[in-house]
Amino acid sequence: MIAFKDVNKYYGHFHVLKTINLEIKKGEVVVVIGPSGSGKSTLLRCMNYLETISDGELIVNDVRVNDKKTDLNKLRRNIGMVFQHFNLYPHRTVLENITLAPMKALGVSKSEATQTAMFYLDKVGIADKADSYPSQLSGGQQQRVAIARGLAMKPQLMLFDEPTSALDPEMIGEVLDVMKALTQDGMTMVVVTHEMGFAREVADRILFMDEGRIVEEATPAEFFANPREERARQFLSRVL
Ligand code: ADP
Ligand code: MG
Repeated sequence: MIAFKDVNKYYGHFHVLKTINLEIKKGEVVVVIGPSGSGKSTLLRCMNYLETISDGELIVNDVRVNDKKTDLNKLRRNIGMVFQHFNLYPHRTVLENITLAPMKALGVSKSEATQTAMFYLDKVGIADKADSYPSQLSGGQQQRVAIARGLAMKPQLMLFDEPTSALDPEMIGEVLDVMKALTQDGMTMVVVTHEMGFAREVADRILFMDEGRIVEEATPAEFFANPREERARQFLSRVL
């Protein structure tokens, strides 16, 4: 589903992604960890073209992302992204927040969009909040709305960039539970997180990044029991 081939990215002179080679298969759950500033968000943002790569080749969903002919809107439509900050429209209800993009971008009718939105709101456990405004919800509930909004586009791939980092501790679990349920539905997911329990439990593969490189790639069992890289050991000793 995703292939990076010798991808480099620079911000000006700053080399942020260094010779990235990576393949992610349909249905895989990949968790990306690493210190702040190591390039995790940039890696994710390249996958849906929020950032352009400087050289190399990047294929997402059989589409060459770095090809000028690529229809980026079409590509993005197939990818849901959930950020640390939920970015909901404050003056729209929960339901409107979810139906807007499918109606605009996919041309879905209002009744169908509503039906789909209610299906995903139910899935994330807050169907009763459909007519509330974001400010009337807790952070955990808002993040679940953001996940439902991503799912309502029926994407092939979901990207999560530290989805629980802005939440109070008691709300982290409810968001992680929703994400866990998604993995059971077979969704392809790339998740940047510092939640090591989640990583250990649901990841098919862990990528550890440091200074713009993927320095270790392993199953959670291998990685947590015995990280090969000294940098990964140090990181784990700080976060566990
Ligand atoms: P992470 O998500 O692992 O914390 P990022 O991908 O956000 O790392 O950032 C990696 C590095 O690139 C950081 O040093 C950051 O300051 C830098 N960076 C991120 N975005 C930009 C930008 N738009 N322009 C210049 N430098 C950036
Ligand atoms: Mg980041």
